[in-house]
Amino acid sequence: MKNIIDIHTHMAYHALYPEKFLEGVMSHKDENSLITRKRVSLMKAFLRDEYCEKMLVQMNNANIKKSILLIVDDNGVIGEADESIEDRYLRHYKILNKYPGRFEVFAGFHPERVGGLDLLKKGVEEYGFSGIKLYPPFGFAIDDIRLNDCYEYANSKKLPVLIHTGFSIEKLKNEYAEPGRIVNVAKNYPNVNFILAHAGFKLDQPLIRELLEIDNVYADLSGFINSSKETLKLVFQEPYNSKILFGSDWPIVNFMEPLSNLIDKVISIYNEVEFPAENALENILFLNANKILCGE
Ligand SMILES: [Zn+2]
Repeated sequence: MKNIIDIHTHMAYHALYPEKFLEGVMSHKDENSLITRKRVSLMKAFLRDEYCEKMLVQMNNANIKKSILLIVDDNGVIGEADESIEDRYLRHYKILNKYPGRFEVFAGFHPERVGGLDLLKKGVEEYGFSGIKLYPPFGFAIDDIRLNDCYEYANSKKLPVLIHTGFSIEKLKNEYAEPGRIVNVAKNYPNVNFILAHAGFKLDQPLIRELLEIDNVYADLSGFINSSKETLKLVFQEPYNSKILFGSDWPIVNFMEPLSNLIDKVISIYNEVEFPAENALENILFLNANKILCGE
């Protein structure tokens, strides 16, 4: 399996993220704050991959041909990251050019960002970004009318839109990322393929299965290590196999673990499926993502 596409990654560089966000990701319930702080400083020491060099080594070891880097626009709602959103866009643009063919970038958008739509258009039209990433827990719902301009633009350019769904961290508006909110949005913007992040390993939930029956709704597998093997087996079967995309969420969730481990896990679960769909593994690891990225 050589052509793997990872639809859900972020740069492992600390300056792109607000301190409070890293703290939230690294803190465990009921833990004292000293331990959390220690873990955050450990993570910051790890998050020094300014130009994706370490990530590329991991990708090569895991046979990942291409990764989609997602920019998150947090709009400073829990404090500013060290690097401005404009500089984050520029950094991702440089990476696209430095390693042709190895990455694609989905531009982060926040509806309250002054000049956000212009920045998004610059990302797509000047920098060559090929999709949009939304992070509703930072203060807007998936079906917030303030996203209409963004969705309209995505629809006119046939850009895929990847949306964080489900719980993020304490203190954020997690209810805004409730995946059921996609129903009307998906109907209103039929040229957009919507990817529900972190929903692909939740096929035990009737709501997720129902949403995946909508033509232009897909889901990624990022975070799947939290799911049971029996639930994960469903992704290799009809009728959902063509709607699920492999995503690692590198480096946020698995920062101590090589990417190749995640691929190995996916393959080992596939090997236990009795009646997989045709091309089931290839669909999950690259064919479905490839179709979306090619705008089909
Ligand atoms: Zn993510």
